[in-house]
Amino acid sequence: MIYADNAATTKMSKAAIHAMLPYMEEIWGNPSSLYRAGQKAAEALQSARERIAGCIKATAKEIYFTSGGSEADNQAILSAARLGERSGKKHIVSSAFEHHAVLHTLRKLEKEGFEIELLDVHENGMVYPEQVAEAVREDTCLVTIMYANNEIGSVMPISEIGAICRAKKILFHTDAVQAAGHLEIDVQKQNIDMLSLSSHKFHGPKGIGALYARQGVWLTNLIEGGAQERGRRGGTENVPAIMGMASALEESCANIETHNRKLLILRNRLIDGLSKIPHSVLNGDMINRLPGNVNFCFEGIEGESLLLLLDDRGICASSGSACTSGSLDPSHVLLAVGRPHEIAHGSLRLSLSADNTEEEIDEILRAVPEIVDYLRNISPLWKDKIHGRREFLIP
Ligand SMILES: *Cc1c(COP(=O)(O)O)cnc(C)c1O
Repeated sequence: MIYADNAATTKMSKAAIHAMLPYMEEIWGNPSSLYRAGQKAAEALQSARERIAGCIKATAKEIYFTSGGSEADNQAILSAARLGERSGKKHIVSSAFEHHAVLHTLRKLEKEGFEIELLDVHENGMVYPEQVAEAVREDTCLVTIMYANNEIGSVMPISEIGAICRAKKILFHTDAVQAAGHLEIDVQKQNIDMLSLSSHKFHGPKGIGALYARQGVWLTNLIEGGAQERGRRGGTENVPAIMGMASALEESCANIETHNRKLLILRNRLIDGLSKIPHSVLNGDMINRLPGNVNFCFEGIEGESLLLLLDDRGICASSGSACTSGSLDPSHVLLAVGRPHEIAHGSLRLSLSADNTEEEIDEILRAVPEIVDYLRNISPLWKDKIHGRREFLIP
């Protein structure tokens, strides 16, 4: 199997698995229990919190464990909204191509009377600091802009956006789920007040993540219960998963440079090869781009058919995001960067990890053009286009 869907989830690293086992087999006590078997788990939890904080230049007190990236996004946004409405601030600035964990939370707030301003995304997949500077107002309680987009891989100028918010004393949250473990994060230098992490996007276990909230930032609870997470999230901590997450994040962060050097070579080879397919276009920015992300639109094909035929050849890829596949709506991200519906339907995302090899890239470069050719040849629409009865949308 060739796995090229690392933006959907990643394979757990050996180190992460080994870090979890002792907390299932030996040290399985409840960290809230006062006897030694519980306190050993509490000490492990504290060390994991410190190690995760260290990876993003935060302190342990600023890390709140959650069930994943979605929960962290929900908690960050709802906290800023609840705080804002107390002083009549009900304006929130975000962008049109955020993850649904952000967009759907904002939609909920809109129904409650918040004014949600979604910034346009440029055709290259970028949101620029000037747009944020223009949008923020006296009554803005939150700016939430993702660090890196999960579909088209574009990387936002987070430090600059953070600086604008800091100067205006507006809370700034970033969904860094696709960035963590792949790009350097420094919450202090980058002026970040809140940041979401998800373990299974950097070779850790699923169902665990974290919200970083700068000291002094007020949080509301999504889950009421015990005093865990300094009273901000009830429920017995998932100690094995947290240990796996800490180990995976440390390992990924220690290898960012070597992994990215390798990924850039693989990614660029893939982009060069796929660009040769006629009537194709790369989505996202070529410079501000995650080192493992490739995303193309091919005119005249259905992304879903392409995926199924790739699967027959042992290649795992994605079209749109995993959350929307299964529905017939095209990706909101591709629509946000201005691709027409028909083109957005024919998209392919390949997201690499450092485990991929040159041989795998070559196999993908053999498979994709053959399948695209095959699908175009059986399409009546395509016949119309090549016979000039319909226009091509991608030159
Ligand atoms: C995967 C992902 C999420 C959701 O994370 P989960 O841990 O799966 O809930 C949120 N935002 C982005 C950008 C993602 O890629």
